[in-house]
Amino acid sequence: MHIYPDYYDKFKCIADKCKHNCCIGWEIDIDEDTLAYYNSIEGEFGKRLRDNIELSDTPHFKLKSEERCPFLNDKNLCDIICTLGEKKLCTICSQHPRFHNELPDRIESGLGLCCEEAGRIILSQKEKTTLISDEKITTDDEIILLRDEIIRALQNRDKSIDERLYDMLALCDTTENNISIKELCDVMLSLEMLDKNWGELLSLLKENCEQLDTVDFDKYMSQRQHEYEQFCVYLIYRHFANSPDLYEAQSRACFVKLAYRLIYHLGALIYNKKGNFDLSDHIEVARMFSSEIEYSDENLYTLFDIA
Ligand code: SF4
Repeated sequence: MHIYPDYYDKFKCIADKCKHNCCIGWEIDIDEDTLAYYNSIEGEFGKRLRDNIELSDTPHFKLKSEERCPFLNDKNLCDIICTLGEKKLCTICSQHPRFHNELPDRIESGLGLCCEEAGRIILSQKEKTTLISDEKITTDDEIILLRDEIIRALQNRDKSIDERLYDMLALCDTTENNISIKELCDVMLSLEMLDKNWGELLSLLKENCEQLDTVDFDKYMSQRQHEYEQFCVYLIYRHFANSPDLYEAQSRACFVKLAYRLIYHLGALIYNKKGNFDLSDHIEVARMFSSEIEYSDENLYTLFDIA
């Protein structure tokens, strides 16, 4: 059974219009089948391919200055797509930003918030997200059943986001670690970091969190609570059902609350500094959080542990 959120098929890479191209700053590993195909390409482009692949334990593209993929051209378009077509990309490139969780009775797929276009699709969706499948969705897995109950609680629009998150923890029979925002910033700043802008934003929050005015910000965001709802539903969908046991699942629910608190306070900080916090600001904060945390197992598990 294959399950995915209702917005899943809306994604289309915005390529040269993307501010944070995913072909910059990451090591891009090449799967075996694609490597064999690239090795079979003849002529000048075949030579270019082979010259730009590092054949180590895990073959990958040799990044150029500023950690750009060697096939990302001056117009920020991919030369492999332009020359060979989209279907000839390696698995990582063709799948990004999609994720797939293989569970015993199903595969659950989604779009990762590390991509700004995926973030736009997810956070701007006003309707409640629903999970869909080509087959009738059934399960007797207790963690998936609990996760689905949590999603319903997170989408209960008769309640505030804080109340919904409280209900989520109650359903998991757990309570959160009451770590302060300042302490949370210290933990975040101690983690492996990709983007110095993320570190600067966290340092600014650490300096200002105790005098942050959230009253005006709450009023400002009152008609945009669906953005927080989507953020929390995305995280619980992505990280809860693949927990090895119920105990770990409880930590992951607490992680969602922690992530929400961080995103909320970063939003309040930006609002206090510049007098607004529009959807693109929200997408950017969520994108940075996702890139820094969800794509590093070490960082992700550190947060699961402290949550
Ligand atoms: S981050 Fe998303 S929109 Fe940007 S280039 Fe990558 S897949 Fe495309």
